[in-house]
Amino acid sequence: MSTTPTVVLSGVHSGPNPSPGLGLARSLRLAWPRLRLEALDYSPRSTGLSAPEFDRTHIRPGWHTADLGALCAGLVSIVESAGAVFLPGLDLEAALLTERAPGHPALLLPPAAAFDVVAKPGETAASLLGLAVPEHRFAEGIEDAADFAARHGWRIWVKGPRYQAVAVTNRAELTGALERVRDTWGAESLLQRHVAGTEESVVFAALDGELLGACAMRKTMVTSEGKTWAGAVDRLDQPTRARLVDLVRVTRWTGGGEVEFVRESDTGVPYLLEVNPRFPAWIHGATLAGVNLPARLVAAATGIPRHEREKAHSSGFVRVVEEIPAGPHATGALAPTHRAVAPEPAAVGKHPSGMPVLSRRLTPARPRPRPSAVDPVRTADIAAALVVDPYESPARVLFGGVLDRGLDRLTAVCRDVEDATGVPTRFAYSVKTNPDPRVLDAVLRRGALVEVISQAEARRCAEAGFPGDRVVLGGPAKWWRFDGGPVKFGAVFCDSVTDLERTVDLLTTGAVYADVVGLRLAPPTVASRFGIDVTCPRTYRRVADALRRAPLGRVGLQFHHAASQIGLRAWLREFTSAVTVAADLLTRVNSRARCVDLGGGWPPWLAREELGSQLTRASRVAVRELGSLDQVLFEPGKYLVEPAMAVFTTVLDVRDGPLGRAAVVDASIAELPDWASHPHPVLWRAPGARWRKLPAGDESVLGRLCMEHDRPRAGLTLPDGIAAGDHLLFLDAGAYDASMSYRFGV
Ligand SMILES: *Cc1c(COP(=O)(O)O)cnc(C)c1O
Repeated sequence: MSTTPTVVLSGVHSGPNPSPGLGLARSLRLAWPRLRLEALDYSPRSTGLSAPEFDRTHIRPGWHTADLGALCAGLVSIVESAGAVFLPGLDLEAALLTERAPGHPALLLPPAAAFDVVAKPGETAASLLGLAVPEHRFAEGIEDAADFAARHGWRIWVKGPRYQAVAVTNRAELTGALERVRDTWGAESLLQRHVAGTEESVVFAALDGELLGACAMRKTMVTSEGKTWAGAVDRLDQPTRARLVDLVRVTRWTGGGEVEFVRESDTGVPYLLEVNPRFPAWIHGATLAGVNLPARLVAAATGIPRHEREKAHSSGFVRVVEEIPAGPHATGALAPTHRAVAPEPAAVGKHPSGMPVLSRRLTPARPRPRPSAVDPVRTADIAAALVVDPYESPARVLFGGVLDRGLDRLTAVCRDVEDATGVPTRFAYSVKTNPDPRVLDAVLRRGALVEVISQAEARRCAEAGFPGDRVVLGGPAKWWRFDGGPVKFGAVFCDSVTDLERTVDLLTTGAVYADVVGLRLAPPTVASRFGIDVTCPRTYRRVADALRRAPLGRVGLQFHHAASQIGLRAWLREFTSAVTVAADLLTRVNSRARCVDLGGGWPPWLAREELGSQLTRASRVAVRELGSLDQVLFEPGKYLVEPAMAVFTTVLDVRDGPLGRAAVVDASIAELPDWASHPHPVLWRAPGARWRKLPAGDESVLGRLCMEHDRPRAGLTLPDGIAAGDHLLFLDAGAYDASMSYRFGV
């Protein structure tokens, strides 16, 4: 190496989502004012190319045009002919170079084995570092992904293979994020549970498996994309340093690296988010705090003595935006921009590094997935329901076997809770979820209760044979069109303080009789339009006054918020805080609760054991707070009926359109009005053939209506041979798809 060495840096874009090149250049300049620095990037739009820190710039052909081998060879020759060392700023470029020029002494890159260790979700790296890994899954498609999201209370991240992480809180965001990650990176998404806590980073430099230095950083400001904008820099504690020494040694790490993790607020557990095989963009912040890792790395790799000692300017850093003169390469290359109507995913779409193109080129093409066999139990259920095809299409089909097994499961759950808590436990089926007489009859014959939200539903249940004491009445409109009675209910739950006052009046006049009368409790911290929020002091006082004026007989407390939306953990937390305050309120008015009713919104995929243990936990909390109880109730709706019906349809047309390949069917979102809340699995049958399940993909089934959004199912791969006249069966259509379906265009 010459005595005035050169360093080549790639990835020099400076924007809201910057690459580290410019920060590396500044740190190296601080150590060696006369060092020669050359910048390398893949588009003239990379703004750092204009920075005065650079003595020379190289704009390489974009990844879409060039032969990857030739691109790597060209880069190596730039580095060799300058007698330089190279520090990468782009993950995928680094991985490619490691593969194409392994062990090259001038390329300060981790070896291939290190890339394997840090590949997301980074389990090996996490175990070396003593960190946990958040629950995760690779998404095969929307069915898988929606299932994972619901299990984690719809607080998850959809991550690209190396870059990009999108926060997701609902089904529409999930669909969008999966499509965007696949279109951008060409690869499947990694789904990860959101961990609430503070994000921290450790940055380090190493040569041949030896740690040259490291420090910690806590983000104190982030951009809307979650990128660091300001941070506090700190020394590394001894145990963390020891673990980092292990990681670096085991992987024979060379170059820069960053470990990003989050410490969960609730538990204090540190979870690994990712390990980056390069210095982070905020690297100069560490230098300013007195730890110049890029200089340590270059000094160790080249043997050049350093001119100045490391000096701490402060213990934290902030970013600023700065205008500088545009370099000659930039003139003409920067097309005028227009403001997009919606914010563009700036992190990805137009990033001058071209990483998305490279990622798509590096991702092997996957074979087109084929429809798969349907499991034998499902096959038998379908055979029993479709002995002959329905006399019309589309048609809703009831799977009696699924309904029976669902009722068995609910009976078993009651037994489990009763055995664990000693409190008699029953369920009340939510009629609004699907009021089909066949469903009501099956529930009646099991001896279970029903839960209704209107007088009309109550009458329907009476006609179906339910005695009044097996009917639970709730909701905000329970006295709408009330005929004046007298009428009897098993339980009545009041949705507001005024509803409580009106109900008390009706009880006093004898128009209504109820075994149990009580309050529906609102979740204290999750927004809901339903129930009484007793944690609000004013409401607390009003309820207490009402109960002092007119003491209820046997008091009940109802809590309902969809666990399928907020997750089981949050559900139990909300229930616990609501019931604790309610218990205090009842004590004050000299009353006690005899019955708790644990709502519905139980997701259909919940196993018997999971539902049983959730209800057991909640019942124990209730007994602890309220004292002994006469009865525990719960109110399954979709848990019982969602899988019990399907919609049978006929294919009218198969076409190639702007949304890709699609089958048009004679059903529509009028028959599947709940299409947006959960992805319906779709089975396909050619004439005379068996039903087969359609795999994930990017094709759709369109409905018969002239409405843009009549697309009951996207994210599928249609079979090669699908044709008009074939049949499709939309599964899991037995809950709100049934009760909310309407007549449209028929
Ligand atoms: C709607 C409703 C249910 C049933 O909800 P699902 O999501 O169908 O399980 C249960 N209890 C009450 C009070 C409801 O309003």
